[in-house]
Amino acid sequence: MSTELFTFPITKTSDSKIKYFDWDHLDFGKNFSDHMFIMEYKDGAWCSGEIVPFANISMHPAMSALHYGQSIFEGLKAIRTEDNKINIFRPDMNAKRFDESAKRMCMPPLPEGLFVDAVRQLVGLDSEWVTTRDGHSLYIRPFMFGTDELVGIRPSETYKFIIITTPVGHYYSEPVNVKIEKYYTRAASGGVGRAKAAGNYAASMYPAQQAMKEGYHQLIWTDAATHKYIEESGTMNVIFQIGDKLITPDENHDTILRGITKKSVLAIAEKWGVEIEERMITVEEVIEAAKNGTLKDAFGAGTAATIAPIAMIGYEDEKYVLPPVEDREISNKIKKYLGDLKAGRIDDEFGWNFIV
Ligand SMILES: *Cc1c(COP(=O)(O)O)cnc(C)c1O
Repeated sequence: MSTELFTFPITKTSDSKIKYFDWDHLDFGKNFSDHMFIMEYKDGAWCSGEIVPFANISMHPAMSALHYGQSIFEGLKAIRTEDNKINIFRPDMNAKRFDESAKRMCMPPLPEGLFVDAVRQLVGLDSEWVTTRDGHSLYIRPFMFGTDELVGIRPSETYKFIIITTPVGHYYSEPVNVKIEKYYTRAASGGVGRAKAAGNYAASMYPAQQAMKEGYHQLIWTDAATHKYIEESGTMNVIFQIGDKLITPDENHDTILRGITKKSVLAIAEKWGVEIEERMITVEEVIEAAKNGTLKDAFGAGTAATIAPIAMIGYEDEKYVLPPVEDREISNKIKKYLGDLKAGRIDDEFGWNFIV
């Protein structure tokens, strides 16, 4: 793996919370490990980062991110392998995407290699928080936001880059009912849909809440201009299986987040000889396939759940029920393969594992 470029000073907590921790009742994202990484940007440069005890941060009421939303994040996981090492899945990809998000939001890039080294050192220090419990992992949340103390609109000149981590339990995702959205949009062409920007999430909450009132779990987003093309499912990329083919929207559109899970799923499927099409896919094609029985599978792909099967798709006044999850051979096999690969139970033939 890559060699370490950065090492950061560490101030250790004198009172680890781990002894009070209730591993049997993990609420996603509610509990945090003992330490966090923090680094500031000012006068055109990043200051030296450090690892400190997890604590609140203070902020000026005019802090720019609160008012104008220069705020981006990432999400990745560390898990225990069978031979008791700590593995982080493809952190270099998150680092790269973080830089792309920063660029689009007019925020400064991180020094090359710093993202991965900061994640590595923080997780290494809080290694006890990566448990051996099956299916558990340590979710890592790096984020950056503007901190100028100014109610005036311009790109912030100061930023904070922080990494926190939160232990998460086995993420079982109940197959979801999704509604194809014909009015609201997550992202428009020329907008910030490709960036992992906080505001994208804010914008998606109201439409998702409306769909929940109709009994759905989440939305399938369509293109802003025509609502004819499928883009994403909730906060995940979406993949369909029609016949024996996997079909997913291609990444040439800046409305679609470039997911690492999706990319990994496709690479595995391709290696196994499954036919893959990355292209624009119409709502009509999916509905037609659902009607004539060739829609074998549909699922979201993302770090939290890996694969989140879709049980039912609602469109206009119709509901289309998909085959039972246990019959979905390809996605079940890929999910198992990815789980085994991350846990070191099988050979890492793609070189995706990053051992801390
Ligand atoms: C984070 C995210 C994804 C999934 O990306 P992964 O790298 O697979 O976790 C997909 N869509 C959106 C909108 C996202 O924010």
